[in-house]
Amino acid sequence: MNTSPSTARSVQHRMRSTWHTATVVETRAETPRAVRLTLAVPTWPGSEPGSHLDVRLTAPDGYQASRSYSVASSSPWGHVVLAIDELPDGEVSPFLVNEARPGDTLEVHGPLGSYFVWRPGQSDRPVQLIAGGSGLVPLYAMAVAHDLTEDSTPFRLLYSVRTPADVFFADELTSLAGPLLQVTHVYTREAPTGWPGTVGRLTRESLAACTIPPAERPRIYVCGSTGFAETVAAWLLELGHATTDILTERFGGL
Ligand SMILES: Cc1cc2nc3c(=O)[nH]c(=O)nc-3n(C[C@H](O)[C@H](O)[C@H](O)COP(=O)(O)OP(=O)(O)OC[C@H]3O[C@@H](n4cnc5c(N)ncnc54)[C@H](O)[C@@H]3O)c2cc1C
Repeated sequence: MNTSPSTARSVQHRMRSTWHTATVVETRAETPRAVRLTLAVPTWPGSEPGSHLDVRLTAPDGYQASRSYSVASSSPWGHVVLAIDELPDGEVSPFLVNEARPGDTLEVHGPLGSYFVWRPGQSDRPVQLIAGGSGLVPLYAMAVAHDLTEDSTPFRLLYSVRTPADVFFADELTSLAGPLLQVTHVYTREAPTGWPGTVGRLTRESLAACTIPPAERPRIYVCGSTGFAETVAAWLLELGHATTDILTERFGGL
């Protein structure tokens, strides 16, 4: 059966606005307190790099809780990969990190967040990615798409984490790093042995030193806790970047 573009759009819209059943296929430790969760979502309509979905859990008594999670990757056969950091006093993340097992089912809704996406060929302006902790997830999706499509836009990633063990997608980032993706880590508590830099929180000066300067008009994607994203965005403005060049995604918390 042939489908007209308007019918296809309306079907896709209906699929996005519905809740999809997701089955946990694989769980693996991402960091000491985070899990990488692979879900089988046969009705997943696909998603753009940077977008997120809502996960809904339902307790035996019918109580429901939902939270947003960025899509690290999704495949044409409906596998969706998430990476979730545990907030020990949280409602949803401790379950996903410690309790979810292959075969469990949950519900997902999405993809969501079309403003915080990077599309291959979108612009030839350089792209600066800035992540704090689990805020790496949507930016990782963008870096992978950049690599897979062999897009020639220069990418730079500045990634702030507590310790080397807290790096999300550590091996993948090592493989992706190269002439078109320059990766800089900031370690706030402990650095790898022999690390040449200092250990400590990002400052406005260190941000300026390891990001693309305003004169090059980078498109900047900032993602992390609310405090991280807002502090970094304020510094970027002080450094001379335009508001319209800065896109932020806030994961919550302070
Ligand atoms: C668009 C979007 C995408 C997201 N993607 C991811 C992702 O890929 N991976 C991921 O691990 N999380 C992600 N998050 C955060 C996630 O939605 C939840 O907020 C997080 O998992 C905590 O949920 P919870 O139910 O465990 O904690 P809650 O019960 O909601 O909160 C417990 C306590 O922790 C605080 N808190 C809530 N969120 C955070 C936070 N992020 N940092 C610090 N403190 C917090 C609350 O204020 C509260 O005091 C995303 C959030 C958004 C809005």
